[in-house]
Amino acid sequence: MSEPEIQVVGHPLVQHKLSLIRQEQTQTQDFRRLMREISLLLAYEVTRDLPLRYEPIKTPLAQMDAPMIGADKNLVIVPIMRAGQGLLDGMLELIPTAKVGHIGLYREPTTLTVVEYYLKLPRDVEQRDMLVVDPMLASGNSAVAAVDRLKEANPKSIKFVCLLAAPEGVEYFHSIHPDVSIYTAAIDQKLDEHGYIIPGMGDAGDRLFGTK
Ligand code: URA
Repeated sequence: MSEPEIQVVGHPLVQHKLSLIRQEQTQTQDFRRLMREISLLLAYEVTRDLPLRYEPIKTPLAQMDAPMIGADKNLVIVPIMRAGQGLLDGMLELIPTAKVGHIGLYREPTTLTVVEYYLKLPRDVEQRDMLVVDPMLASGNSAVAAVDRLKEANPKSIKFVCLLAAPEGVEYFHSIHPDVSIYTAAIDQKLDEHGYIIPGMGDAGDRLFGTK
């Protein structure tokens, strides 16, 4: 079997914006804008393999066969609630025809089991390639649980898109879902004892929604 794939998007614009979003002094408004901008750039990378077909068009000067994204461009973007919603607008700006599903999971504090509290997917999910999005791939527990559940809906393929990943999370995720490629802007050093990514950017959901 081939190696599980992880793509670190090293584009200077992504790296610069990532450094800005990490900073403690970055306030909610800028945090949100930067997340939207980075997600747009990540969407550019993650759609690199979309198939093209050639259609006759007319420029002001001539006819030509022009490359267009085919009818099988069908994508569904699934943010993992709630922080994943921060990656949605930028991606939809670049891929406005994508449909959107949502999945919500939380960890039951006594048993530590992952509980699904929300799932809504488009009806034609089986005909779509799926992008599962969450800014932080930390322990990998919620990403694994989300993808476990989303695979039951039988999309054509799944890719996982995040801003930051911890090595522990990447290893765990790919030990369970080696077929799901990860796209991230960086792989950081480690997780701390509370499950936060170090150096990371803190709690992405709280920073995005201003809840702390
Ligand atoms: N979730 C976050 O929002 N931040 C982390 O560092 C880890 C998980």
